[in-house]
Amino acid sequence: MTKIIDGKEFAGKIRGQVKEDSDLLFKDHKVQPCLAVVLVGENPASKVYVGAKTKMAAECNIKTKDFKMNEDTDQDTLLKTIKDLNDDSSVHGILVQLPLPKQIDERAVIDAIDVKKDVDGFHAINAGRLSIGGDMLKQAFIPCTPLGSLLLLKNTVQNLSGMNAVVVGRSNIVGKPMSQLLIEESCTVTVVHSRTKDIESICSKADIVIAAVGRPEMIKSHWIKKDAVIIDVGINRVPTTKPDGSEGSKIVGDVDYQDTFEKCSAITPVPGGVGPMTIACLLRNTVTSAYRHSGLEDPRGTVST
Ligand code: NDP
Repeated sequence: MTKIIDGKEFAGKIRGQVKEDSDLLFKDHKVQPCLAVVLVGENPASKVYVGAKTKMAAECNIKTKDFKMNEDTDQDTLLKTIKDLNDDSSVHGILVQLPLPKQIDERAVIDAIDVKKDVDGFHAINAGRLSIGGDMLKQAFIPCTPLGSLLLLKNTVQNLSGMNAVVVGRSNIVGKPMSQLLIEESCTVTVVHSRTKDIESICSKADIVIAAVGRPEMIKSHWIKKDAVIIDVGINRVPTTKPDGSEGSKIVGDVDYQDTFEKCSAITPVPGGVGPMTIACLLRNTVTSAYRHSGLEDPRGTVST
């Protein structure tokens, strides 16, 4: 029978651990983890996401400092805010919500964040540490969506070593770090993208498929090997017609859930799969940073629960 990988429940467990770790740090060292969240502009999806982060941080006894900046903010002003946060010893994590308005160079902003406070794990040095792997991971922050996807996978598959994994998508925030995490777990990894030839046949040989494409329900059952495990990172809003005939919308993944369900052995639903894990891992990275800033060991292993 196909297992539905319940990311909502698992993310709740991670947040429970984060709260425990946060409470312990305060009890023993009087340090409260603090996340600074910088939002530039009025992107509605970003506003919803930032709101959810702030609410869940509070539930884990993580303090947040919100910086809302106008759409026309120039790069120097944003860089100055980041410098101030880098210099503020009460702040352990800095998150700049992406995407940024077009007048701002995203890479310059990400790399201006103190690498020790880069809880999104997008800084070039953290990306490099993940790429090198091994002991380097102990100093790194791992990007939250791939980390959440890996934790779900490790909770589903007992031993990843030697498995064939295909990652669909090669973005810096999901596809590439995901492929590096899987290499670290001794999977045999293939990364496919928009220029890949015969993508369906490559996917159909995979024991594990990670979909991070941004194309609604692109991956169908004939792409999937029998009993493969599917992690669907995609979040796509598509139009629907409601029972009363009016128009609405719903969220679907990059995988056709109904079509692939019987063929795979386990799959993450959308919503309720990888999505909730992203925020849980962001909070986890923030508490890890607060421990490191206090000269303490990470409360959890880098990629374990
Ligand atoms: P990007 O648009 O940055 O990257 C998409 C990748 O998919 C690219 O590498 C692109 O290839 C590849 N691709 C696009 N079309 C095709 C195709 N037809 N066939 C094969 N490959 C294709 O997206 P992200 O990585 O940022 O996000 C991917 C998905 O994950 C989105 O649905 C996004 O909403 C979701 N997401 C979910 C998160 C969560 O919290 N659950 C967090 C972040 C993202 P190429 O490089 O050649 O252009």
